[in-house]
Amino acid sequence: MSKDYDTLVAETRATLQHITDAFSPAVLASSLAAEDMVLTDLILRARLPIGIFSLETGRLHKETLGVLDSIKATYDYEVQLFKPEAAAVDAYVKQNGLNAFYDSVDMRKECCRIRKVEPLKRALDGKKAWITGQRRAQSTTRSELAVQEHDAGHGLEKFNPLADWSEADVWNYIRSNGVPYNPLHDKGYPSIGCEPCTRAIQPGEDVRAGRWWWENPESKECGLHVVDGKLVRIKSVA
Ligand code: SF4
Repeated sequence: MSKDYDTLVAETRATLQHITDAFSPAVLASSLAAEDMVLTDLILRARLPIGIFSLETGRLHKETLGVLDSIKATYDYEVQLFKPEAAAVDAYVKQNGLNAFYDSVDMRKECCRIRKVEPLKRALDGKKAWITGQRRAQSTTRSELAVQEHDAGHGLEKFNPLADWSEADVWNYIRSNGVPYNPLHDKGYPSIGCEPCTRAIQPGEDVRAGRWWWENPESKECGLHVVDGKLVRIKSVA
C-alpha cells in the first residue's frame, strides 16, 4: 500500500536525521533535478550537516546551471561542484570527437566515466554515506531501489530517502514549500542530465525516456548507481 504524503515527508526527515547521527560525514549528490531540490530543501532548512555537491560535467543545460544561483539566492548556500579532469576530456574529444557518445554504448559509458563516474569518486572520498534523489517509480532500472543499501563499489552506505515517493509527492512538496526548481521540468523534461543526452518526452512516456533515448531502457544508467558495472539487487534495511 502506498504511503500518504505526510508520512513520506516525516519518514524522509527521520532518514536524513539518522544519516546525520550515524553516518557523518555524509553528502547529497545533487543533479539539481526536482527530487534533489526536495532533499536540498529538507537538509538546508533543518540545517543538517550534510554537504551538497553536483557533478559539473561541462555539458549541462544553462537552465540546470541556473539552479545553482537559485539555491544560493534562496538558502544562501553554495553547492560544491566537481568537474572532470581536463586532460581526460581533451583526450577523449581529440580521439573520438565531441559527441562520440551517440556512436555506441561503450563510447557513451566512457564519456560518462570521465565526466561523472571519476568526479563522483572524488566527491565521495572520505565520506561515510551518500544520498541520492532516486525514486523507485522512475524507471525499469530502479524498480527494486531501497531506502538504504551498501555501495560496495564506493565502500560506503548509500541512501535513497525518496525511494517510496511518487512524482506527484515530489511536486506537492516543491509547490507547497516554494522550492526553486529547474525550469526545464515545465517544458517536458521530467529527468534532466547533460544537454546533448536529454530530450523532452511526450505525455505517457516513461519519465526517463528522454535520457540516452537512442539506447535500450536496460542500458541507460550512467554507472553511478551500479556496482561492478551491473545493476545490483538491493536489500531494504531502513
Ligand atoms: S550524459 Fe552524455 S554528455 Fe553527459 S557524461 Fe554521459 S555521455 Fe557524456
